Amino acid sequence: MLSAPIDKIQQIPLIHEIHSDEQHLLNTIDGEWFGILHHFHWQDYRQFGADYYNALYDFNQRSAQTTASKEANSETKAEARQRLLFDRVTAPILSDTSKSVLYQGDVVDLKSRDVTAADVSPGEVPLRLVGRKPKCFFGLLKAFIGTSLMGFPAEPEKVELLLKSNPAFARVCGFFHKNKKLNGYHYQQVPSLRKLEQFDQIMTDAGIWGRLKLTAVKANLATGVIQPEGELVGDTTHYHAYSSFETVLYLDEKEKEQKKSQSKPTKNCQCEDWNHCPHEWVLCDDGAGTIVKSGKKMIWGHKASIIGLPKQGVAIDAIAVADAATHDGQTFFPHVERVLGDHADLAQTVHRVLYDSACDDAELKLQFEETFGVELKASFNPRRSKAITQNLPRGIEKITPYGVPICLAGYGMDYQGIRYANETFIYRAPLGDDGLSVCVGCHQRPVCCNRSAQAGRTITVSFDTLKHIDANDPPMAKRFKAIMTRRPSVERMIKRLKCDLGDDRLSKRGNDSFQAYLDKTLISYHLLIRHLN
Ligand SMILES: [Zn+2]
Repeated sequence: MLSAPIDKIQQIPLIHEIHSDEQHLLNTIDGEWFGILHHFHWQDYRQFGADYYNALYDFNQRSAQTTASKEANSETKAEARQRLLFDRVTAPILSDTSKSVLYQGDVVDLKSRDVTAADVSPGEVPLRLVGRKPKCFFGLLKAFIGTSLMGFPAEPEKVELLLKSNPAFARVCGFFHKNKKLNGYHYQQVPSLRKLEQFDQIMTDAGIWGRLKLTAVKANLATGVIQPEGELVGDTTHYHAYSSFETVLYLDEKEKEQKKSQSKPTKNCQCEDWNHCPHEWVLCDDGAGTIVKSGKKMIWGHKASIIGLPKQGVAIDAIAVADAATHDGQTFFPHVERVLGDHADLAQTVHRVLYDSACDDAELKLQFEETFGVELKASFNPRRSKAITQNLPRGIEKITPYGVPICLAGYGMDYQGIRYANETFIYRAPLGDDGLSVCVGCHQRPVCCNRSAQAGRTITVSFDTLKHIDANDPPMAKRFKAIMTRRPSVERMIKRLKCDLGDDRLSKRGNDSFQAYLDKTLISYHLLIRHLN
């Protein structure tokens, strides 16, 4: 509680009282968010603050201008639907092959550059912004980061809810609640939902979220909070879209009718008559698409590509895929290219990249080798579902698509290596729990290894029988398996980002918002890693 004299002088904000309180809160509040926000190094963010205030100034100028009316747009909704379909990265007939499969933001360039880093600090708002004093950048930034640190999506509705319902949170961000003695607006009052939305929008449009993310990761690499590794691991993950889709019928190259699910066409204007107004039809949720999961399960959502460091289990980038319907195998290469371009220290150390079977492709492996001098190691994709049952050694019932021979007694044979001279793979019967070969005492001995001694059965299988397996890199080998044990670490990174610091159900539409959401989550994630280090 405030003591009476301080309560009367509103302009001196509560300095001593807050301090002792916050010390207490630091010790009592569960979770890391309070400590991170309390010890927030605002000095590191001054340039971003200046950029934000400049962008805010531009934004206010822009909204004051009225757009000149253009001629009516003659495109019908049905035509727009087709145009938008054939404009997608996953269009049935691709007209423009230079399109990036990864999201590329259209950053609004800053017009004004009057505010500089030296002009901004918490509670100190540059004066050139006419009208009411805007909300403090640092407070708003902390509010979004804190929301994510508490495990909620860093989106305006959630930020507002937490600021309003959690006084300690509002206060550590530098805001206070409405005071009856203070009539009307005060820049330090908890911001309204509209102001939070505007902040988020400006940060997104000006590309500040993206730059903040990059800075957070770079800082952690530069200070040794995370160490460069020799490997990168990647995967994609989906988020449920905040939109519905329609099924669009189209004619393919052979004039045959096909269908594809797509976001509905809409217009971003407030005009009453969309059929005759000058504005362009756009997808109401660009980037959303149908994602096919295992078991033919289909999800209407957005797709993100995640890249991280497997040994430390740290995600270092997350990027929206331009069209969620894009196949996983296509997103990894451009994403690795971007990450190595962003982080020169990683470009020095990375010699191998890991992915699941979506990237098990000889051409793609060659592309990685030739472009970056990096080995692409992907989980084995056998590209056949049936076991091999022809030309098998005696006593062997079948060989699985993954290259494991199964004997008549049902044991999987252990891979031993290659005999290059005869171009064969060598296998041996496994050892039982007693340390002896399972062949000892096996009832199939008469038709299998009747003559062999205690060592158990050894077989060879020719390369020709297992044509689909690359003899230079057989997936049955111990080395291959050892490397691939590091791949699933990316799944834990995804869980961190999707569940611990947010939600996999989006509350906004469009790839701009989706990328901003990923960026905000990653900023919080790296601040958390730094804090725990
Ligand atoms: Zn319009």
